[in-house]
Amino acid sequence: MTSDDDSTLLQISPEVRKLLEERGIREEDLRTVISFAENGRQFHTHDAAGHRLAYFTPSKVTYWVEYQPEGEGFRIHNAYSHRMKIHQGFNMPSKKTAAETGWRCAVCELPLELAIVKLAYMDETFAVDLPACPACQRVLVSEEQAVTKMALAERMLEDK
Ligand SMILES: [Zn+2]
Repeated sequence: MTSDDDSTLLQISPEVRKLLEERGIREEDLRTVISFAENGRQFHTHDAAGHRLAYFTPSKVTYWVEYQPEGEGFRIHNAYSHRMKIHQGFNMPSKKTAAETGWRCAVCELPLELAIVKLAYMDETFAVDLPACPACQRVLVSEEQAVTKMALAERMLEDK
């Protein structure tokens, strides 16, 4: 990261700041994700809201940030994390269909479709239906998926 990244203006409301504190997500985590996302257009875009959703895994934890460009910097709408690893690039076609998520891949400009995505945590591998870009396979993990389903599975595996 360059020193420019540290000076990027992040607009964070008190509500979002509180949520980030509860989730143990630091401002530098947000900057890491946004810097990675913006440098390679590695994000999903939401047509209606104009939001961007990106993830990055600096080490063991994957951080997701929902944000949007605002002035010289970015407005942070949401952020969450999970420890389950996404095996990017091994998606299989899903037999299920889901309603449009409203999210599109920023690179391929395609709406996301359900795919069977490989996830791993500790010694276990999972196949889970998640929205993903049908071309480059970039996955989307929703907040609900991360903070409920994945968190539960992570705890169960840790307790084994
Ligand atoms: Zn794509």
